[in-house]
Amino acid sequence: MGLVEQRGMQAIPPKPVGPEVTASSALAADPGQDLRLQRNLVAAATSALVVLSLVAFRMLGLIEADIVLKAAVTIAFLALAFYLVFRSGLNRLARDASLTVPQTICAIFVLGWLMYEAEPIRGALCLFYLVAMLFGVLRLDTATMVGVALTALVSHAVMLYLWHIAHPGFDTGPDIARLAVLGIVLPWFAVMGGYVNRMRKRLTDSNRRLVRAMERIEQVAIRDELTGAYNRRFLLEVLERECRRSRRVGSQLAVCLVDVDYFKSVNDNHGHAAGDAVLTYFAGLVHGIIRGADVFGRYGGEEFVIVLPDTDLQGAVDCAERIRRASVEADYPQVPVERRITATIGVALQGDHETPAELLVRADRALYQGKAAGRDCVMVG
Ligand code: GH3
Ligand code: MG
Ligand code: MG
Repeated sequence: MGLVEQRGMQAIPPKPVGPEVTASSALAADPGQDLRLQRNLVAAATSALVVLSLVAFRMLGLIEADIVLKAAVTIAFLALAFYLVFRSGLNRLARDASLTVPQTICAIFVLGWLMYEAEPIRGALCLFYLVAMLFGVLRLDTATMVGVALTALVSHAVMLYLWHIAHPGFDTGPDIARLAVLGIVLPWFAVMGGYVNRMRKRLTDSNRRLVRAMERIEQVAIRDELTGAYNRRFLLEVLERECRRSRRVGSQLAVCLVDVDYFKSVNDNHGHAAGDAVLTYFAGLVHGIIRGADVFGRYGGEEFVIVLPDTDLQGAVDCAERIRRASVEADYPQVPVERRITATIGVALQGDHETPAELLVRADRALYQGKAAGRDCVMVG
């Protein structure tokens, strides 16, 4: 047991209470980029299926080998180009970083070109329009989806027009029938896709709101409303856990029991609101001094506890002394400058086989010795 008392001149301003936003969290990698890259790879795999179906058409003798080759090279080139754009992060410069519209439009134009080159398989390839548009369902709103559908329709109509000009006398009936069906199916698909996307967005939003509400509830459940410090229940839970952990791993654990001196007179002389402001300011001071691993909570009234894991007695005394000095040097709000706010702190290091309650009793005893010794001091129990 010993008395440690030092006085200095420098006031330590309080830190705001609450979760800190660190530079590393602000600069964390864009979590959406992984997902975008994944979707890009799925799109590439789907393009590979188009090439595979072309190979099948070739084996059935429906199309020429050079068309398969040209299509494979074009599709591979586009897939690689988009992959590189995603890999390099250039996609993030675009308004929609998923590049859904450019990818879908590219697919539509490649399909149009293929259908121009390979008339016998034109009808079968029409189905791939839907596959291309399916990617938009996950990202695009109804207006954009309809825009993509109209682009596909116009591109298809232009392709048919050019082909029939180049091949006069060819029966236009089947192509016109297919264009009419596409004219119904693609806009319908776009509207339904937009609807699905709206539902998905609503679900994501409500999920996000739910997560935020849960986080808030968790904080409310463990924080003291006035000071922002942890509440007594959480504090005792942490102490229990840390006692067990320190015993298990063989580390040292210290606690500080902090009591604001003559606090009742703050209430009596300056009002209860001033007392509240002093407690809040004091908590801010402590938050600015303790380490991230330390747990600071309101034990009750104007008493606080700090749990200091992996800390020896000297470390705990130093921490307590910094808090004592910061308090006596601080200009508290709502109290006159000459009214210094001091605190007495009892420090105890966890002993072998000592329960958390016994540890707190020892810190409490040290605290009252400090009170008896004249307050504004740090005592070791
Ligand atoms: P000591 O130096 O011996 O610790 O004296 P003290 O006046 O600080 O201690 P005492 O136990 O006599 O008074 C504590 C006071 O703290 C009494 C109580 O009304 C007040 N108090 C407890 N909780 C709050 C609170 O949340 N806000 C305010 N303003 N006062 C509080
Ligand atoms: Mg007290
Ligand atoms: Mg007190």
